[in-house]
This record gives sequence, C-alpha cells and structure tokens, in this order.
Amino acid sequence: MKKVLIFAAITCLSISAHAENYLIENVRIFNGVDARLLPGHVLVEDGIISKVSGNPIEAPQGTIILDGDNRVLTPGFIDLHVHLNAHVPSGQDDAHATVVGAVAADVARHFLDSGFTTIRDAGGTHPHFARAIELGTIYGPRVFPSGAVLSQTAGHGDSRHADQGHPGLQGGNPYSVADTHVIVDGIDQHLMAVRENLRFGATQIKIMGGGGVMSDYDPIYSLQPTPAEIRATVQAASDFGTYVLAHAYTSEAVRRLVDNGVKCIEHGLLIDDATAKYLKEKNIVISTQLVVFRELRNLPGITQTNLDKLDVVLKGQENLIGLIKKYDITTGFSTDLIGGMYPLLTREFTERALYWTPAEVLMQATSESAKIIRMSGRLNRHGNFGEIREGWVADILLINGNPLEDISVLRDPGNNLALIMKGGEIVKNRL
Ligand SMILES: [Zn+2]
Repeated sequence: MKKVLIFAAITCLSISAHAENYLIENVRIFNGVDARLLPGHVLVEDGIISKVSGNPIEAPQGTIILDGDNRVLTPGFIDLHVHLNAHVPSGQDDAHATVVGAVAADVARHFLDSGFTTIRDAGGTHPHFARAIELGTIYGPRVFPSGAVLSQTAGHGDSRHADQGHPGLQGGNPYSVADTHVIVDGIDQHLMAVRENLRFGATQIKIMGGGGVMSDYDPIYSLQPTPAEIRATVQAASDFGTYVLAHAYTSEAVRRLVDNGVKCIEHGLLIDDATAKYLKEKNIVISTQLVVFRELRNLPGITQTNLDKLDVVLKGQENLIGLIKKYDITTGFSTDLIGGMYPLLTREFTERALYWTPAEVLMQATSESAKIIRMSGRLNRHGNFGEIREGWVADILLINGNPLEDISVLRDPGNNLALIMKGGEIVKNRL
C-alpha cells in the first residue's frame, strides 16, 4: 500500500512539473552542435522539444507563447565534475551530514540559477539527493550521481586525520561523513562498494586512480588501486550497463586505468604526448578543469603538502590543453570546484575561451558533455538532452547578449539569463 502511494505522488509531481506547453518565438538558436545562430521558433510540449523551425509555428490550443525578442536560445549547460557535498568550508571537515546536505542544496541552487540544468556529480553526493531534486523536494539541476567515491587505504579519498585509525581494521564503517568516500581494499570490497552505490541509484562509478592534490598521504606519482581492483570495479559497473570515471594525473596512472577498462579520466594534467594519442585511439574521455587549479592556492586551510602537489600538476595544465586540441580528444565541460569555491562556476567559460572559440566552449558545455553523460547507458532515466533538437528534453536558456561573440555574458547569469527551462519547466522567467 505504501509503495502505491509513493508511486502516485511521484506521478503527480512529474506531470505537474511540465504541465504547460510553450511556444518560444523569435529567437536565434544555438543548437549545441553547429557554430552559428539560426533564426527560428521552438515549441515545447510535455517537457520535450516537439518542433524547431525557421518558419512561424502555429501554437496548439492552450500553449503559452513567449516572445524571445531576438535573444540567443541555447541548450541548458552541463558540468561533468561537481561535488555538491564538498562545499562545507575547511575547518568544518567534521560537519554533521545535515550541514553538508544543507550546503549542498545551496550549491545546487547556484548551479541551476547559473543555467546548468544537468550536472554529473563526480563523487560524494548521495544518489538520494539527486532523487530529491527529481521529486521537486530540493531546487537544483538534474544530477547524475556517482555515489561514494571509491578510494584505497592511503588513496586520494582516504581523508582520515593523521592519527585516526582505519575504520575497517577497527570493525567500523568505512564510509566518511555524509557517505562521500568509502575506503576499499581488495577485489571483494571494490565489488561491494560499486554494487552498494548502484543500489542507491548511482548512474556511474568514480574511483581515485592515482595521487591527488588535496590529500596528505598519497604522492602524486602513486598508483591506485591495483589492476585487478580496477578490473573488478569496471566489471561491477559494466554489469549494470554503466562506466567508471577515474581521478588521475600521470601517464602511468592513466594507462593502468584505461588498460583495465576505465572510460573517462578526470584531470589528466601530467600526461605525455604518446598517452594522449593512445587515449584518442581508444576513444577515452579526458574531463579536465581550468579554474579550480588556478584558484586552489587561495583556499583557506590548504596545507603546504597540498600546495607543493598543486605546483607539480599545474605545470602540466597548458600542455594538456594543447594535447586535447592536437588529438581532438573528447573533453566536455567541468569545474571540480570545492570548499565553497562554487561562485567561480561561470568563470570556467571565460577561462576556456582563452584556448577555444566561444562556440567550441558552448559545445563542450552542451552537446559534448551530454554525450559523455549518456555513457551511463540504460541507467540514464532522463532521455536525451544537451541539444536543441526535436524529440529531445527541453532544457533551454534564453540569453541577453550573444555568447558566441562575447562569452563573458555568461559570467552574469542574474542579469543575462532571461529564461531558464529545465525539462520543460520554467524555473526562471525575466522576459
Ligand atoms: Zn573532483
């Protein structure tokens, strides 16, 4: 009986979420794929883009008509590397899970209000948080959650204090506060952690695949975890039809991950030319971030160890950008902001525009990121999004100014996003 009631509630919410149909007239359309603007009109019915046309569209009865007034219409933006649960300021690392969650809700609001209609949480945010957004309990973008990040003991996600004993060795819970990380060693524990994440609703799996900057006991060059543990992780994920993304910087770490089935590398700042070429041949994604590495040294509470490691990886950043361009490696758009740095989100647009054209950056933030998110296969319950295309989900922005000429208009979403529509539902309207 209880189950029936819950199902009924979900059905009502999803219907009311996009009960209205909209005709958006007189816009210049960036479709997410082509580097140009096409004048036209867009009809949205039942949360789906039902018609896109250069000629006037006749509005079916009851349709709400919005005059775009020659504004630029784009797909909603996508960020591939978010940690909603990692924004409690440093010094409050032991904050109760309710505090972590409350801050995460603020961060989620900031993302959607900045035009991000979808994010991939690269680990830490519980899949039930994603579901609460889906149900309308929390305001925010659609979230593809990875669940708790898998890290080996002494790995990048082993965030214990210096003198803190191993929870597993003491018969305790290997999950961190708010379930953001889980410490796993050996094939069985990797299998169990992946399956636990999937059971809660993770759409892909994240592992720490090498040394990291913001951890004190794993050198950047360290390899994490063993090939057999990586294969077990990939096996458990692919048995559910999805993929593994992995944190890694060095060529050696990246090759070990890819050779054992990982499909998406996060960061990758220290890879060499031969490894980049290898990634292209194997159709592997490198999701990397610009702003966070350039701003991390200003994070309150960052340790000298962290700063020394930051210096090492930052030196590789421009080289990596060159390799991504040279081999045309799929990269998408991602930020990895942590520790309360989320207000820097939209600076990623202008930072990328130092290396790519505005149109290329917009493609990264829409169609290219969407393609990467769809690697979660049948675990994607949300359909196709990331392009302005008939039959696709109506994630739509109307922008004051032309971001293809001046991408900095996206730095001020409060003034320059005139309309934000997520799944056919208007969440902001300043037309
Ligand atoms: Zn991250």
